[in-house]
Amino acid sequence: MSNKSNNHQVKAKKHLGQHFLNDETVAEKIADTLLLKDYKNVLEIGPGMGVLTKYLLKKDCTTYVIEIDTESVEYLQANYLNLAPRIIEKDFLKYDLNEVFNQEPFAIIGNFPYNISTQIVFKTLEMRDQIPEFSGMFQKEVAQRICSKEGSKVYGILSVLAQAFYDAEYLFTVPPNVFNPPPKVDSGVLRLTRKADYSLPCDEKFFFKVVKAAFQQRRKTLRNSLKTFNLSDNLKANSIFGKRPEQLSVQAFIELTQLLENDA
Ligand code: SAH
Repeated sequence: MSNKSNNHQVKAKKHLGQHFLNDETVAEKIADTLLLKDYKNVLEIGPGMGVLTKYLLKKDCTTYVIEIDTESVEYLQANYLNLAPRIIEKDFLKYDLNEVFNQEPFAIIGNFPYNISTQIVFKTLEMRDQIPEFSGMFQKEVAQRICSKEGSKVYGILSVLAQAFYDAEYLFTVPPNVFNPPPKVDSGVLRLTRKADYSLPCDEKFFFKVVKAAFQQRRKTLRNSLKTFNLSDNLKANSIFGKRPEQLSVQAFIELTQLLENDA
């Protein structure tokens, strides 16, 4: 099948969220967001034609890429010969990354496929023990949400869960016109740096459950949205249950989880 010339451009496929970045300065700036402290492996999700990959390959790290699109993979194989053994042609969401990383730490980076943004963050959180750092581009609204603090209109499940384990920084905004084809929205680049002590003083699985349940109906008080947890009358009297989820900091969600754990 490979009778294509090396510079044949990949045709953008909408269902794969393909918006190729065509601004080298922005690509380099995104690659530079990784701090590369105390780990060597970097995994780029969705390299496409490698605009970001090119700058990662110049750094003092070992770059792997995972790409679902065969046409992009063929392009990379033809144009980045040294990368070839570290091109994984798989769906990031389904692939067992330990087939490659074997329990070792790795950072994640990408100009991510926006159609699966949330799932990318959730999979990262599940694998947080191996992922000290995560940076890259989402649609602006998603990047802002992940980094926002309590009280903000966009504060939600992703903000609380990501910030429970990582320090989140919104870095810069990227306009649609540097992509081909241009997306309908602005994009935002962020960095998540895992906290030095990222273990929570409560049951972590239960914490995820509580946060998700609290935000199911974000206009309601916790007393209402957490009904299914069978709160005792004693606990219900605690003023925290009169609040709405967006009023609770990460620390308050941890305390809430502890209260529920200890409710007899
Ligand atoms: N990084 C490139 C491409 C960004 S577009 C650039 O900046 O130009 C998003 C890329 O993610 C596409 O190449 C798309 O094929 C890939 N992709 C989409 N879903 C994926 C998945 N589930 N797993 C791995 N890659 C995926």
